Amino acid sequence: MNQVIVKPGREKSLKRRHPWVFSGAIAKVAGNPDAGETVEVRASDGAFLATAAYSPHSQIRARVWAWTADEIDARFFTRRIEDAAAARAALGITDATDAFRIVHGESDGLPGVIADRYGETAVMQILSAGAERWRDAIADALCGLPGVERVWERSDADVRELEGLKPRSGLTRGAPLARAPEIHEHGLAFKVEVDVGHKTGFYLDQRDNRLLLRRLARDKDVLDCFCYTGGFAINALKGGARSVLAVDSSALALEAAQANAARNGLQGAQWLEADVFQSLRRLRDQGKTFDLVVLDPPKFAPTAAHAERAARAYKDINLLAFKMLRPGGFLMTYSCSGGIEPGLFQKIVAGAALDAGTEARIEAWLHAAPDHPVALNFPEGQYLKGLLCRAAGSV
Ligand code: SAH
Repeated sequence: MNQVIVKPGREKSLKRRHPWVFSGAIAKVAGNPDAGETVEVRASDGAFLATAAYSPHSQIRARVWAWTADEIDARFFTRRIEDAAAARAALGITDATDAFRIVHGESDGLPGVIADRYGETAVMQILSAGAERWRDAIADALCGLPGVERVWERSDADVRELEGLKPRSGLTRGAPLARAPEIHEHGLAFKVEVDVGHKTGFYLDQRDNRLLLRRLARDKDVLDCFCYTGGFAINALKGGARSVLAVDSSALALEAAQANAARNGLQGAQWLEADVFQSLRRLRDQGKTFDLVVLDPPKFAPTAAHAERAARAYKDINLLAFKMLRPGGFLMTYSCSGGIEPGLFQKIVAGAALDAGTEARIEAWLHAAPDHPVALNFPEGQYLKGLLCRAAGSV
């Protein structure tokens, strides 16, 4: 088999079971592996380290499939995908929702593979050369899971470019969709546009945090910034909010959000198509205040290289939100940027409160729902972090 031999000392991260081999760590590639082909990773003294997929175009030159000399074949993918699906069922996730992540990349031992389930439809995202090579095996394994009727592909994320892969999307297994799937999450229905929606269609990672918001919302004036198809705002309505103002810059997302609210018979939200940075300033200038503010922005810093500019953007919106928070009010604030670590995010939010002149404390650390596990050897898997802050004083 082709081999990737790492430089002396560069076996350390692999021994800690971090599943990426960066190009700079490689001393030699023995043989001539094709994109995505299986290679053995060996230390400079020849010791076996891992079985991996070769990515000739990426800085992440190899991604580990297994820490043993496993044969990588279709059965390997079936096994891993069945294990991942069983883990979700064991956690009871399927009791609360019919939409959940089945495969979460490296943390499920499948680098470059994301799969989400929306009712009978599985949506797969193939993000690395290795996963691309096994695309058919992955689609077959997903289609073989109980209850899955079709597999839709959404391999159109920008990161594919880094792997030298072209975007691809569409139906790959099963019968065409008659209409966009309707999912049911903690008793609320949402339509999910698997063909054009963000990510694979829905922000599944926020499921439990949306429920938390619902519990906090009774009789509150709520501001939901970056509302997308209404996940938080509709939960606020369901929880008995007095008013809900939801802001997003995407007209399509807002249209879907309104339809979702109607689908659940929940009226009364105000949907505002605007840039959040501008509308927060406008609301502040109008002297508006809220009991509950949600900030769930897009990824400002995909990698650490963007951290500084992203930090300024996070500080800006959090500062404005704190300024409009009534005494005793809650700010639920998130970062899904891989380049911003949890400790740094807390510092940014603390700095924003200080500059806003708001005394606040952290009531809870928030994370992605448990169908997005984080392998202990892969801290990068914990991309979503959130804080529930409460301003001092009583409502
Ligand atoms: N909270 C949502 C997910 C938010 S995703 C949920 O639980 O479903 C981020 C959203 O921010 C997207 O809908 C995108 O359209 C929107 N967005 C990105 N930049 C924006 C900006 N500057 N102003 C307003 N909305 C923005």
